[in-house]
Amino acid sequence: MKNEEKIFLSLPHMSGKELAYITEAFETNWVAPLGPNVDRFEKEIADYVGVGNAIALSSGTAAIHLALRLLDVKQGDTVFCSTLTFIASANPILYEGAKPIFIDSEPDTWNMSPQALKVALREAAKKGSLPKAVIVVHLYGQCAKMDEIINLCNQYQIPVIEDAAESLGALYKGKASGTIGHFGIYSFNGNKIITASSGGMLVSNNQAAIKKAGFLATQAKDDAPYYQHSQMGFNYRMSNILAGIGRAQLEVLDERVSARRAIFQRYFQHLSHMPGITFMGELEKTKSNRWLTVMLVDEEKSGRSVTSLIKYLTNENIEARHVWKPLHLQPLFQDAPYYPHSETEHVAERLFRNGICLPSGSGMSEEQQMSVINCIKEFFISKPIQESRKIELSSNQAEKSYQYKLLG
Ligand SMILES: *Cc1c(COP(=O)(O)O)cnc(C)c1O
Repeated sequence: MKNEEKIFLSLPHMSGKELAYITEAFETNWVAPLGPNVDRFEKEIADYVGVGNAIALSSGTAAIHLALRLLDVKQGDTVFCSTLTFIASANPILYEGAKPIFIDSEPDTWNMSPQALKVALREAAKKGSLPKAVIVVHLYGQCAKMDEIINLCNQYQIPVIEDAAESLGALYKGKASGTIGHFGIYSFNGNKIITASSGGMLVSNNQAAIKKAGFLATQAKDDAPYYQHSQMGFNYRMSNILAGIGRAQLEVLDERVSARRAIFQRYFQHLSHMPGITFMGELEKTKSNRWLTVMLVDEEKSGRSVTSLIKYLTNENIEARHVWKPLHLQPLFQDAPYYPHSETEHVAERLFRNGICLPSGSGMSEEQQMSVINCIKEFFISKPIQESRKIELSSNQAEKSYQYKLLG
């Protein structure tokens, strides 16, 4: 039976305390610009993740952009970036006129492959064109293999930017994701684990850098008695109203992480025994925030494709999505070099082909989740003959579309 109420992938989940902070802002007329909620939100995030400095910005994308600016990324420079991610990780490279080089995932965490990174760095060093920065993404709340990545980058003295937009609340060997590299960024976009309706944060232990970020984010106004500008700046700050939402959300972050982890456990418990079904793992000594539960469907073993499952769920009024399409397969980046995990293993492409993001919002009821689980079971049990022919066709087509040129 079709669900009457649509079940979404990841909806905002308010704590009920947000309006108190917003009301306070209105009552004191701190509607704009900046204000006490912004100051406190920065301090509270910095304390929560255990980092020296934080600056609240209009988006996570803006935070990545400023990090690249602070690392002096310019026209003609190169920046390495995880390939399996949302476009926002790499767009700021283009803002600076720099060139992205994409690094494949490894199979354990689905994040940047140290093996591929090693090859890419060695080749870049040989050519005398080392990247200005490496952007490492912690996908779906799962930490990348940071020790290996940082070690490699340290060998060549390349700074690391952690795109922790999806992983706020996740831990790597006791450290918060986003606090291990030179810069970390978080996002408070509507579908993230906590939201300020929109917004982002740039964090670093480098106090001078965060101060400079504040300068650049407010139109780069010189210290003068009038409006004087010697550098190009941006309008990238967060409003005091949105920071109020963010503060109330941060208070319940730990609860949200527990809820999303419980959602993952329930999917795993009910579906992992099915043929051809596997789930994103969790690296030893790390704690994922399980922002989204991602399942892999092996088409050969299960007899069904992810695309047809998504279609089936859509018909049942359930929102599910493909895993991010790797950036090296995006038309926008068709000329960008790409380094696979190994010559024979293209991990991000396999994850894209087989991966499905399931409804994971912390506000989803157990009943709603069971309804999703039952729909998925029904889908795999019912196997219309006509459809299996269709799958064959579509998987052939899929194979064709995965023919890409190998660069690098
Ligand atoms: C959401 C997201 C961003 C961008 O954050 P915004 O606040 O929407 O600009 C960047 N990287 C990743 C991996 C994301 O998921």
